Amino acid sequence: MKDARPILGEGERLVLVSNRLPVILQRQGGKLQAEMAAGGLATGLSRPHRETGGWWIGWPGRPSQNEQLDPEIDAALRQQRMIGVALTEAEHLSYYTRISNRCLWPLFHYFTDQVEYAEDDWETYRKVNRKFTDKVLEVAQDGDLVFVQDFHLMLVPEMLRRQRPGLRIGFFLHIPFPSSEIYRVLPRRGEVLRGLLGADMVAFHTLDYLRHFRSSLRRVLGLEVGPRIVPYEGREVQLMAQPLGIDAEEWRARGKQPKVREQFERLQQAAQGRRIILGVDRLDYTKGIPARLKGFAKLLENHPELADQVMMIQVAVPSRVEVEAYRHLKDEVDRLAGDINSRFGQPGFEPLHYQFRGVSPDALSALYQIADVALVTPLRDGLNLVAKEYVAARTRDDGVLILGEFTGAAWELGEALQINPFDIAGIAETLKQALDMSPTEQARRMAPMRRRVGQADVHLWADKCLDTIRKAHDLKPPPLFQGELRSKLEQSWRRAPRRLLFLDYDGTLRELTTLPSQAVPDEALLGLLHALGRLPATEVWVVSGRPPDLLDEWLGETPVGLIAEHGAFLRPAGQTNFQPLHPQTALDWRQEVQEIFEKVASRVPGSLVEAKPFGLAWHYRAADPSHGVWQARDLTQHLEEVLGGQPVEVLSGNKVVEVRPAGIDKGSAVQHLLERVEAGTFVLAAGDDKTDEDLFRKLPPSALALLIGARPSAAPYRLPDPKALRHLLAEWAAAPSFLPSISVAEGASKDEQA
Ligand code: UDP
Repeated sequence: MKDARPILGEGERLVLVSNRLPVILQRQGGKLQAEMAAGGLATGLSRPHRETGGWWIGWPGRPSQNEQLDPEIDAALRQQRMIGVALTEAEHLSYYTRISNRCLWPLFHYFTDQVEYAEDDWETYRKVNRKFTDKVLEVAQDGDLVFVQDFHLMLVPEMLRRQRPGLRIGFFLHIPFPSSEIYRVLPRRGEVLRGLLGADMVAFHTLDYLRHFRSSLRRVLGLEVGPRIVPYEGREVQLMAQPLGIDAEEWRARGKQPKVREQFERLQQAAQGRRIILGVDRLDYTKGIPARLKGFAKLLENHPELADQVMMIQVAVPSRVEVEAYRHLKDEVDRLAGDINSRFGQPGFEPLHYQFRGVSPDALSALYQIADVALVTPLRDGLNLVAKEYVAARTRDDGVLILGEFTGAAWELGEALQINPFDIAGIAETLKQALDMSPTEQARRMAPMRRRVGQADVHLWADKCLDTIRKAHDLKPPPLFQGELRSKLEQSWRRAPRRLLFLDYDGTLRELTTLPSQAVPDEALLGLLHALGRLPATEVWVVSGRPPDLLDEWLGETPVGLIAEHGAFLRPAGQTNFQPLHPQTALDWRQEVQEIFEKVASRVPGSLVEAKPFGLAWHYRAADPSHGVWQARDLTQHLEEVLGGQPVEVLSGNKVVEVRPAGIDKGSAVQHLLERVEAGTFVLAAGDDKTDEDLFRKLPPSALALLIGARPSAAPYRLPDPKALRHLLAEWAAAPSFLPSISVAEGASKDEQA
């Protein structure tokens, strides 16, 4: 094992949660012992588990008679810092065999025809997820890092978040996340997505799976989703793609052990100089074993001369034998293997060595070393560790990996001969190409893959996941602006010689409305702006995305400055004309965008196009939420393609998609106002959406920036809604003010604000 830096900080504990505990229970000298099982995930996570004094929670592999775990098993597990979840046989059947293996597994692997679903079973899936959650809650404290594994436990993150929001929670999906077209087949699709979003980090093996997850969030939950971040319930959920690695060093070293060398030599004798093609899989319909065997048969058919020069070894590890589809598959594979050997075998030699049982890691290591070709052709596979293990075991950089393009591993192993696993003729041709490949070409492909598998190993995977969970949790909304701090800053406000306010309109001064035209200011709001604008030495700006004529119509009578269209136009208080801040901006893209927007508006009832002097916006707040979000996503993608290279920005905001000239934003609009600000001026800014973040970032450190709403922000404090902001402003406008001429020293008030 590598010497790695400590993954967690002092006092931080790791609580792992997986369906099965990585443990073997056996009786030694009359006493039940739990032995840690090696391999895969356990290798990567056992070090942080052990070093942080953490816990591993899961099913110990034996059904319980009742709700309690057998005390002997419980004691044996706790010795290894593991906690068993007691599942009765009936629970295991519903949660594991039915929902996990007959519904989620086939669906997520695109085998929709195999999906079985019953509401009662889903109830049990939920109940069992709750049992796992309760076990976590028994040991996990605020600040602990809880890392939940895989599709059996997709509801656990949300259940944990509800009960203990202070936990840091990560989730990793070890199978593919399918395209949203497939995912939406799941009857409880919304519940599962919400379940996952309880985590601070949701991670996948590849970017494709991450992309599919994002589009399901949009289509099913109607969420606005960034490339790597999902704003959700006042938190930001991080999305990550980080393929699981293997313990490459261990596979390299294992090959050198004398007992492995012995097995290698025995295999070599048995092969009698024949070239070896190897397949290693669980016997699962996702692995594409029948097509692969047909591909091998096709090779022998096309090249009869190879019949006594090659042999294929297929290891098929028994799996889920209680599920009918797996029994059918076994019959099919048995029959195909028999056919191949009867067609191409000769007395004393069978070209296909098919075995329906698992082998030890040592035997596997010998097989990896002897195989000239590894034929890894799943029809669909979250990752595929066998491909990586084969690469890691080829310490002489020889051998050829043939890899199905629907495996997660294909993402990283670009030098493999990648094939379509459904194309039987293609498998045969690629096998021939592999058998004919020169040693130089083999090394040219194998060496970089081996380097990559060695570097991105299972320890790196664990480090990256845990690191991301820790950091993700820190992305919280700012604290509420209240209490002592609020009173203190009110004093600074009163004493300040000058005041400068930047206030966004929609969602900040005024609640959002279904139609943009409904957000007319009421008398109270106009009164507030009058009161603020009339305060001595106080300059108020409304900084809005709205067009100039509308701001003029709504707010033109108030003594405040207006900044329109996110900073395209500006009009100081008391003046009648707006000045364009970017008069040279090219607008030749408008015609095309207008046509695109109008087409979308015509097919999304309730949506509408707003034409501003510079920008164009498509609003869909009044449209059907999921239809609106779906169309918005397609529209954004389409616009990005059409407008690529043009000096414009495509913004997807709060139920609006907007195109505006690049370089115009609220931050640059207020910059020159901030540059002439006198020392000691009390600067206050408030805003609710992404466009206000541009402004927050330009403010001097002493300014008071307030986010309206709840999400992570550059603003250091927040208020819950526009009403709370109006209340604050009314209170402060009414506060007795010191005359500027007798204000306290400038430096003092500035310090107090900081
Ligand atoms: N494996 C094993 N004994 C066997 C065959 C396979 O221990 O007889 C291991 C293999 O080393 C690999 C894992 O099982 O680590 C299979 O992982 P993979 O990702 O290829 O497929 P999965 O079974 O997870 O779908």
